[in-house]
Amino acid sequence: MLAILHPDTPLDSDSYRQTMSFLEQLPGVAIKVHEVKGATQRLTEIYLLGDTKSLDKDEIEALPAVERVIRISDDYRILGRHRDDQRQSGFTYNGVEFNQNNLNVFAGLCAVDTQEHVEIMMRALKEQGQHCTRMGAYKPRTNPYSFQGHGKSCLPWVFETAGKHDIRVVAMEITHESHIEEIDECLEKLGRPTGVMLQVGTRNTQNFELLKAIGRQKTYPVLLKRGFGITLNESLNAAEYLASEGNANVVFCLRGMKSDAGQPHRNMVDFAHVPTVKRLTRMPVCIDPSHSVGSRDKAPDGIPDVMHATAQGVVAGANMVLVDFHPRPEKALVDGPQALLMDELPAYLEDVSQCHQLWKKRQELYRNTGEVRAK
Ligand code: PEP
Ligand code: MN
Repeated sequence: MLAILHPDTPLDSDSYRQTMSFLEQLPGVAIKVHEVKGATQRLTEIYLLGDTKSLDKDEIEALPAVERVIRISDDYRILGRHRDDQRQSGFTYNGVEFNQNNLNVFAGLCAVDTQEHVEIMMRALKEQGQHCTRMGAYKPRTNPYSFQGHGKSCLPWVFETAGKHDIRVVAMEITHESHIEEIDECLEKLGRPTGVMLQVGTRNTQNFELLKAIGRQKTYPVLLKRGFGITLNESLNAAEYLASEGNANVVFCLRGMKSDAGQPHRNMVDFAHVPTVKRLTRMPVCIDPSHSVGSRDKAPDGIPDVMHATAQGVVAGANMVLVDFHPRPEKALVDGPQALLMDELPAYLEDVSQCHQLWKKRQELYRNTGEVRAK
């Protein structure tokens, strides 16, 4: 059961004290307090865990600090959608909104290679009015002899270049908890010219100790990739690990499933799950068409498969797109064959925007249909 307090209830107020002393004496019920900081207010959510079936919802709703009570299921307690759950989705980070209704594109380099490429990429994004990008500094590679990313050494010039081009959020995968500190120290030293969304890659979706470490910090939001070979439920539980440790600013990313059935694509595109994740949880949903499709191959209509896959996800209501571009894909050190070309960026962004508008129109189309009408 979840008791949501009136917004901005002071923790030293009588109403808070009375409410807590009532809840704390409930037999067999453990209490976990979760703070949600919104743009304009602070919300306190109190999770009542354990033997809650016999609790009287009305009685708890009548406590002085409580605004409303929601009965929650066991799955995805914090990030999930529950019956009568009108809680908002998403969060704001560094001036950028992330929720289940809007859309942000994170076009950028799969792996940071040269300063020149980072500069060309970010300048192009600025020219297109973009405020987000993807930049891999720590790369998890299948082959131990492949380029592993520049790591910590590239952070200063990546972040400075981002700041120079008004990039507010850089999605950056980390593979070890020590990377959080490396990123944080570097940003702090530079005066925080940009922000970072910590990315958990598909190989680490169930690295529970990494998830817990990332969940314990609240400075950076998290982009969690779906595990490539586990069920959706298992990946959503991985996201809940982050929230249960205290960080509920999580975007969930679909990136295709490893299966021969997906060939000749790199992975089996799974963007039909965009609306499913939005129904089961309150997380904004990202799609990664580059790692799903894995090539720049085009259909006879002249449109690359990566763009077709993007369109499918965005028309279905995706809220974020993580996509590889590169000024010279033949020189890229990681995933060159799937990177889109710089001259494709304006059309790509326009395509994404049109698909997002179409998703809005589709909602209108269905608004008053499918209701069960009383006779
Ligand atoms: C990536 O986004 O660079 C990446 C490695 O993706 P994934 O974890 O989905 O393979
Ligand atoms: Mn990659």
